[in-house]
Amino acid sequence: MPASQNRDKPRGNNYVLVILDSCRYDSFVAAKPKAMKKLGKLEARWSYASWTSPSHYNFLIGLMPHSSPKHVYASEYYKKDFLRFNERLGLQDIEFKSLVPQLYLPAFLKNSLGYRTHARVSLPVLNPKTILNNGFDSYKLMDKHNDMRAMVKELEFPEDRPSFHLLNVGETHYPYALPDEPPDQWPRISGVHGVFKHLDDEVVGGKLLTRKEKFFDNQKLEELRQRQITAVKYLDRVVEELFDLVPKNTYITITADHGELFGEEGFFGHGPVQHNKVFEVPFLEGKIR
Ligand SMILES: [Zn+2]
Repeated sequence: MPASQNRDKPRGNNYVLVILDSCRYDSFVAAKPKAMKKLGKLEARWSYASWTSPSHYNFLIGLMPHSSPKHVYASEYYKKDFLRFNERLGLQDIEFKSLVPQLYLPAFLKNSLGYRTHARVSLPVLNPKTILNNGFDSYKLMDKHNDMRAMVKELEFPEDRPSFHLLNVGETHYPYALPDEPPDQWPRISGVHGVFKHLDDEVVGGKLLTRKEKFFDNQKLEELRQRQITAVKYLDRVVEELFDLVPKNTYITITADHGELFGEEGFFGHGPVQHNKVFEVPFLEGKIR
């Protein structure tokens, strides 16, 4: 087709951003995912925030987890890191100021680049009534908080315009349950449902336990850590299905919104926690073919 006939057709790669909620870097490594590693080199990066809402806001203004570089100005680092969107989208001339003044990636993709924009979220704190739902053609809180496969089945990539899909995946979030595990068999840990519960756990739902239980039950915490590793292993198979489904010109980023603490230095969970393991997240991206 002559270039003149193609001038107004939106260009660019499809872009899929997969966020494994609460997935700790070392849980990801321990799971030895084979499919996900096909995307490229696994990096340990640092989340800008320690819990779900602010972290997703950062993703949606285009700030991926950072590498905490030394001897550079922070402002120079994020401007440079933002240039990676040229590779992700298969375009040129995108820079951080392209997002000015709204500073919101979905709106920029939709309004300036002609993308179709979709979000599928697992955690109720990200529900469609929140401020995050801006610039999306569709934005849905999934029926179950832990079923990435249900999201993958809904993905569409029409050929007339590129698509952006944000997938917030909940299997790696407490209680690290796979979709076929009955809720009455999910683990219960007293601290999570009492004083130490986080906002997103509260809305995911968990009964308040009244019985007295020792909070730092190391065996139970280790079981929880193993459950997160098992969740990553399971998700690796779902990601393989995602890879089979996406068109050729699709760029995929897989990362996490924050980590999780499993008893280290007296912490469990994420959110009001200041610890390296709550910020350290896996990061890998690329084209699958
Ligand atoms: Zn989260």
